[in-house]
Amino acid sequence: MSTVDSVSTDILIIGGGPSGLATAIHVADLLKQKGLTRRVLLIEKGSAIGNHIISGAVIKADVFKELLPDVDPSEIPLDSKVSKDSTLLLSKNGSIKLPFHPPYMSNTGNYTASLGEVCRFLAKKAEEKGVEIYPGFSVSELLYENDKLIGAKTIDTGVDHHGNPEANFQPGTRIEAKLIIFAEGVRGSLAKKLIRKFDLQKERNPQVYSLGCKELWSVPEGNIQAGEIYHTMGYPLNLHEFGGGFVYGLSGNRVAVGLVVGLDYPDPTFDTHDAFQVWKTTPFVSKILKGGRLLEYGAKTLPEGGLYSLPKLYADHALIVGDSAGFLAMPALKGVHLAIKSGMLAAETALFAFEKNDFSEDTLKQYETLVNTSWIYKELYPVRNFRQGFAQGMIAGAFHFGGQLITGGAGFFGKLEAHKDSEATRKLSEFQGKKFKERFRDRLDFDKMLTFDKATDVYYTGVNHDEQQVPHLHINNPATYDAINIKEYGAPCQFYCSAEVYELHTDKSGHQELRIHAENCLHCKTCDIKEPGDGITWNVPNGGNGPEYKYM
Ligand code: SF4
Repeated sequence: MSTVDSVSTDILIIGGGPSGLATAIHVADLLKQKGLTRRVLLIEKGSAIGNHIISGAVIKADVFKELLPDVDPSEIPLDSKVSKDSTLLLSKNGSIKLPFHPPYMSNTGNYTASLGEVCRFLAKKAEEKGVEIYPGFSVSELLYENDKLIGAKTIDTGVDHHGNPEANFQPGTRIEAKLIIFAEGVRGSLAKKLIRKFDLQKERNPQVYSLGCKELWSVPEGNIQAGEIYHTMGYPLNLHEFGGGFVYGLSGNRVAVGLVVGLDYPDPTFDTHDAFQVWKTTPFVSKILKGGRLLEYGAKTLPEGGLYSLPKLYADHALIVGDSAGFLAMPALKGVHLAIKSGMLAAETALFAFEKNDFSEDTLKQYETLVNTSWIYKELYPVRNFRQGFAQGMIAGAFHFGGQLITGGAGFFGKLEAHKDSEATRKLSEFQGKKFKERFRDRLDFDKMLTFDKATDVYYTGVNHDEQQVPHLHINNPATYDAINIKEYGAPCQFYCSAEVYELHTDKSGHQELRIHAENCLHCKTCDIKEPGDGITWNVPNGGNGPEYKYM
């Protein structure tokens, strides 16, 4: 049997998105300035940097001047400067352009971009600065010694579905590190374990999320200009569903379109992917896509809870950055600039710790101080209650938001609590409204020209998973799953999953069972978040498995 490989490093960064790469670049710069030599190692589960990255995206680009002061801004692969920026209220058959931007939603000076492209560029810069980057490796386990975090381990490969070694068994590599940066993106599976083990969410709101489905299209010249962007409110969402759509014009006659929906909706049959398809049938969106063709599809969750949902950002030997922590500015849904800045502040904390040669939480708490005195805090503080205000619906949300605008964010009731999205889902017997399919009966016949079923969309993700591995989606309590999640809730996973991973199979005798097509999984984490009773756990699959996004 193969023996376990072991490596050691000074800093281990888990995740090659904007926050992890910003940490890597900035810490390499700071170490150089101080004449210090330290090993910085970044591990990414995607087969290449950028392949698991998906975002709208319209980016506040000023942050790149802070991260890469010596780089000519024209080198950064942003797509187009925002040239036209409008918000529309949609109905089934029409739209009204609002004469103003809702507060905090102006995009003047921002850029459309493929975040995957930006990350590929940042990875090159990090490597030039001496950072070691290893894509295609999944980190599946944290290593402790006497309850002290000492490192992490990559996943064992060459195992059967039960984890038993097979002929090509390869044990994972132990990576011992003085400091671990958790940059796994939204609902990181290791960050989740760390937060639970050290109770880092104590006395803070639980995180709440949304799910965004996105398609990239090539459209005929003239349908939309590069830099022309639209945000939509209203149809197809009702007053109990928080969210909206986006249309971002890109260079080369391409357009990114998407629908983002808060996961605190009550309907157990609600389907964000299908709602996205319905949204595309509105006259405003369908006109832009007319004559075009689909290039790519993808899905991801976003952490929407804001300042009050941030966990304690540090533990002994650990810092949490970017989406893994929940840095996202509402209502603009912007997180890339915050992810980069949080990575830079983590890098500054890392340098401080190296200079003291102390990686205890007493030293690393400096990171939270830096965050709380930075522009991250200034940006998040006025909207600290924003998302919680909409938990009771759009009308209550508008009332709360009005109060927040005139009180600097406090609103009429001070700090608003948040509740886990999985608790918002109603049982079939309790849900009073019209179910999703009844609402959109006339628009769910997808034509594969403008609208697509999930299986077709999944084809446009390049997703792939090894057959030979322990399934990475885990039903936590099979004993109660059938009786509660299937019978009482109607298996909501078959609807909310953006990639048709979950299928409720009914046999001839009427017995129902859940079948899991893990090979389709886009790593959006919705099932880990939204399943009633926290019934499903998402674990990392083998390294290099998952979607292969090109320009998302
Ligand atoms: Fe997302 Fe879970 Fe479906 Fe994978 S299985 S695509 S993580 S909801």
